[in-house]
Amino acid sequence: MSHVLAAVAWPYANGPRHIGHVSGFGVPSDVFSRYMRMAGHDVLMVSGTDEHGTPIQVQADADGVTPRQLADRYNRVIVEDLHGLGLSYDLFTRTTTRNHYAIVQELFEGLHANGYIVARTTLGAISPSTGRTLPDRYIEGTCPICGYEGARGDQCDNCGNQLDPEQLVDPRSRINGETPQFVETEHFFLDLPAFAEAIGGWLDRRENWRPNVLKFSRNLLDDLQPRAITRDLEWGVPIPLDGWRDRNDKRIYVWFDAVIGYLSASIEWARRTGDPEAWRQWWSADAQGKDALGYYFMGKDNIVFHSVIWPALLLGYSGEGDKGGEAGSFGKLNLPTEVVSSEYLTMEGKKFSSSRRVVIYVRDFLERYDADALRYFIAAAGPESNDTDFTWAEFVRRNNDELVAGWGNLVNRSISMAAKNFGAIPTPGPLTPEDEAVLAVAKAGFTTVGELIGKHRQKAAIGEAMRVVAEANKYLSEQAPWKLKSEEDKPRQATVLFVALQVISDANTLLTPFLPHSAQKVFELLGGEGVHAPMPRIEEVEDLDGGPAYPVLTGDYKVGARWESVPVVPGTPLAAPKPVFRKLEPSVVEEELARLGEGA
Ligand SMILES: [Zn+2]
Repeated sequence: MSHVLAAVAWPYANGPRHIGHVSGFGVPSDVFSRYMRMAGHDVLMVSGTDEHGTPIQVQADADGVTPRQLADRYNRVIVEDLHGLGLSYDLFTRTTTRNHYAIVQELFEGLHANGYIVARTTLGAISPSTGRTLPDRYIEGTCPICGYEGARGDQCDNCGNQLDPEQLVDPRSRINGETPQFVETEHFFLDLPAFAEAIGGWLDRRENWRPNVLKFSRNLLDDLQPRAITRDLEWGVPIPLDGWRDRNDKRIYVWFDAVIGYLSASIEWARRTGDPEAWRQWWSADAQGKDALGYYFMGKDNIVFHSVIWPALLLGYSGEGDKGGEAGSFGKLNLPTEVVSSEYLTMEGKKFSSSRRVVIYVRDFLERYDADALRYFIAAAGPESNDTDFTWAEFVRRNNDELVAGWGNLVNRSISMAAKNFGAIPTPGPLTPEDEAVLAVAKAGFTTVGELIGKHRQKAAIGEAMRVVAEANKYLSEQAPWKLKSEEDKPRQATVLFVALQVISDANTLLTPFLPHSAQKVFELLGGEGVHAPMPRIEEVEDLDGGPAYPVLTGDYKVGARWESVPVVPGTPLAAPKPVFRKLEPSVVEEELARLGEGA
């Protein structure tokens, strides 16, 4: 048994999340965490909403609300969406807690004390007409990299590159259109080149990473530059140094604060459990946590933050870059075991785009379809190692052919027949080689499916679980228990249905990490009582340090099924089942395609 950290990318709280987002970080991390818990590991799954930075400030300005109000709105929407998908976070929090501010400042101070944060004079913008500082968010212009005309002073939303305002071609003020004047101003930079050697050595020791992630990360080391970690902005974590702490125009850069969320959320979780030091079991490199494993889940646009920048922060804080130093008050901290990055999901051949309405939000999806139907699509056909297209036709096909006709039908016809003929799980007679064979296929699934999930090959894993389902369907067709109706055939019918129900029980356990909602239902249809697949709950909590209250996702996941075959018990009463999955009409495809274009 190990301590396993599942560190899940932080969704940005400037709007609802679409299914592309949750296919990258949400569902894969939940499948992994559920499996690891079932296999007996001590999992800590944390994340939260990322709420600082220019885009939230800009949107709040446009909506006539404060950034905090905007973040409150979308934090709640996102919490509800992730809850709807059944994502089993031990804690899903946010970056505007006082706990998070304190931990970010602790890391900043530790890095600064060790010499890894350096002040530099750079160019900052001022308004020529007023002489006042013009924050990044008020500057836009043409991206020098891709030519996009609406790039902002800190980032181009088109190509995703981070920018400095003076790099923009034809920069202009969003307030009055004037051309900003650039004057010297001071900012703090993270000395990334001081970590190139340490990160290179660490990457050399990585095993089992997806090759493209490892290669991409190594290439980043060839050209490491010091990276700005403060901005001209009012919305963010204050800089914890004398002379800076009380300045209202300079804040810690959002990426620096957000990536520290993995640690701050773990500490918040520990404080909320009443054992404030418990987080160390997943994080401490020199005490009880040194054997812990840490898996980070994200889309590929975030690799750099997890395979280079976050390790640099952890190394610098631990005193392990070129400049040495002492570990801060948390002690030395663990680096990631693996960065698990997925590729992009597109929709009907196009990039997701809220403005062009090539999008479906999680909330809208869950209003019309079941969470497990989406979870199934993502696991079976998601962007695990290639960019992948979501089409409504394929969604409907997989739902109807695989979930409904494959798995749902197996469950439904086997339990109906047993309920009707025996009213209970029947008592088997002697087993034939065919019976033994199908039971063995199901048992073997615990090894193959488990190993594949452990290696982040979820597509292959769910394929193996569905292969057990297919074998069971084939077994039923061949044994045809519906024909075994005569008095003398009855014992054989009992045996076949007993075998089928045992295989269904095993297949249901194999599918539980992927399809937790329906797994609970199938468990109950087989006469099970209590929790089979634990679910998260939304809890309204007080800020631990006196800030405003907020909702979190949390849950008790110690209960529920283990990763093992559990013998079904003859005599357990069975009732006629209700269908577990819903068949979708073919007209769904046209309706959804019509919705896609609306308002474009
Ligand atoms: Zn660009």
